[in-house]
Amino acid sequence: MPHLITRQEAISNLEKEIAKGECIACRLVNSQGKYLLHKGARITVLLSEYPRCWGQVMVIANRHITSFGELETEEWKEMSQYLHAATRTIEQVLKPLRCYVAATGAADNQLMTTPHLHFNIIPVYHKTDKPATIFTWEHGLYAGTEAEWKELSENLHKAWKDNLLFLRHGEE
Ligand SMILES: [Zn+2]
Repeated sequence: MPHLITRQEAISNLEKEIAKGECIACRLVNSQGKYLLHKGARITVLLSEYPRCWGQVMVIANRHITSFGELETEEWKEMSQYLHAATRTIEQVLKPLRCYVAATGAADNQLMTTPHLHFNIIPVYHKTDKPATIFTWEHGLYAGTEAEWKELSENLHKAWKDNLLFLRHGEE
């Protein structure tokens, strides 16, 4: 099973990976790694590499924009469709009690977040979990083995494709 690591372990790992001041979101959007769920024309969908809950997904604008005022209508349409598809996918595959969906971010580039416009979809599995315990790193983050990441990614990819097709078809 994926296991909890402490906030400090996660930060130490990030410090090795991220140059100070680098925009993590821009790097993720331009990566082709195992965490990529979907690269769209304007929006990218990724598994969070440092999930607060196992199966956390991020939906990120490809352009480096930091406010909703900069988001164009076509970007928002694609983003909202991906948010819908990704949340449906998580519900089907991981069967959480519910999903928290939030556009978080910071005022400047930080190790744990970015000013870049993005949403987090966080599957919540325990009745005792509340926003105050989920939207923080104080209680740790999840880490998995290569096999666990592979299994998660494969399961989500399959359902993602079905959901995206279903939602696109519904629009026609
Ligand atoms: Zn950026």
